[in-house]
Amino acid sequence: MIAKTDQEITKIREAGACAAWVLNQVKKAVTPGISTYDLDQIAKKVMEESGAVSSTYGYGRKGNEFPAYMCVSVNEQLVHGIGNKGKILKEGDIVSLDVALNYNGFVGDNTCTVGLGELAEPVKNLLRVTEQALHKGIEQAREGNKVGDISWAIQSFAEKNHLGVVRELVGHGVGREMHEEPQIPNFGVPRSGPLLCAGMVIAIEPMLTLGSPAIKTLSDGWTMVTQDGNYCAHFEHTVLITKDLPEILTSLKN
Ligand code: MG
Repeated sequence: MIAKTDQEITKIREAGACAAWVLNQVKKAVTPGISTYDLDQIAKKVMEESGAVSSTYGYGRKGNEFPAYMCVSVNEQLVHGIGNKGKILKEGDIVSLDVALNYNGFVGDNTCTVGLGELAEPVKNLLRVTEQALHKGIEQAREGNKVGDISWAIQSFAEKNHLGVVRELVGHGVGREMHEEPQIPNFGVPRSGPLLCAGMVIAIEPMLTLGSPAIKTLSDGWTMVTQDGNYCAHFEHTVLITKDLPEILTSLKN
């Protein structure tokens, strides 16, 4: 596995801080009545002000490039939701905000799912457990551990809490590119997979569902939703593996 140099780590740390800042600005705007397009436009503006470039805008195969500056996914939408003027948020919705950007040549990637107003108890629990599962995974992001230790920590915690674990999408290495090696699945076997070493930077991103974890892609070619239409949640941090405790690069700095 490719460890980053100290110079690269300094730059990824800056990119991570920037991604956290942008995500927080979007998060603060989440309120009933706002459209997912408006949230995307806020991401665009804050990235521009910060000197960052969206990693999602234009991503993908020629002819079907992702057309938005971040991913905004509502309720049964898991990932890759495209901001839409007609999609207005209301009380009781949950919305996943996924911000990946390039700052001075390096990427920061982070996601959170937030609720609007009062949520039903199982939905509240879904958000809580998915965020906790992220931190269970991060705890295992230690030199000498293997990728499977992260995967198992997430899977076992999710299943203990009776949530579905999405298999089709995984976390990933982060650096100059948004998706580098290794893949970080949210399911797996302890003590298996690539060895983790100090200097590696990875995005850990559990995606959990209230019902079945089966997903499908909508006809826009991007938006991924649960097949059963039930709620799903997604939390993500970009994390640096060190000789000691993992460092979350996308935590919000004041
Ligand atoms: Mg990611």
